[in-house]
Amino acid sequence: MTDPRRATPDHPAGAVPGGYDGTPAHPDIGLRIGMGYDLHRLEPLAPHGAGRPLVLAGVPIEHDRGPVAHSDGDALYHAITDALLGALAQHDIGALFPDDDPRHESADSAIFLDEAVRRVHEAGWRVVNADCVVVLERPRIGPHRGDMRRNIAARLMTPAERIGVKGKTHERVDAVGEGRAVETHAVVLLARAGAHHA
Ligand SMILES: [Zn+2]
Repeated sequence: MTDPRRATPDHPAGAVPGGYDGTPAHPDIGLRIGMGYDLHRLEPLAPHGAGRPLVLAGVPIEHDRGPVAHSDGDALYHAITDALLGALAQHDIGALFPDDDPRHESADSAIFLDEAVRRVHEAGWRVVNADCVVVLERPRIGPHRGDMRRNIAARLMTPAERIGVKGKTHERVDAVGEGRAVETHAVVLLARAGAHHA
């Protein structure tokens, strides 16, 4: 096996520690992990503010505040979209769907997620599982958890049993804790299509 520390014209020794030449130090085991994060400011709903109706993973959530966003502001779909694109080491959601593009005005964020899933499949991968955290001071997302998991599962084409959604508060501190923002985190695991892992 090639010594991964071998210096080459493109990677002279000392250019990076060890002079790494791009040779994988570990064989490709047919798995990829990705993480995504998002945050949207929450404002009172129109006409009192610029907030759009709060929706997370495609589930409308009754609240007197909502995200300020160019699209529908679905922060959970945005984080999962970025996790998928990150697992592929592709551009992030902002690069693919610029927020100054009039075509995405009020867009259903499922469109972004579906495009990320399409790219996953196109690159020869499938979603194994996903785990998500929603940090929202109020309302509690518990009653909507089942619907959120089912929606995410359908879009990722994987059983709902493999989709984790956890709700957290921000302990009343900082913008999220003061109810002025919603924050989301997601990790996804991809496997090579057709590959079987015990
Ligand atoms: Zn977003």
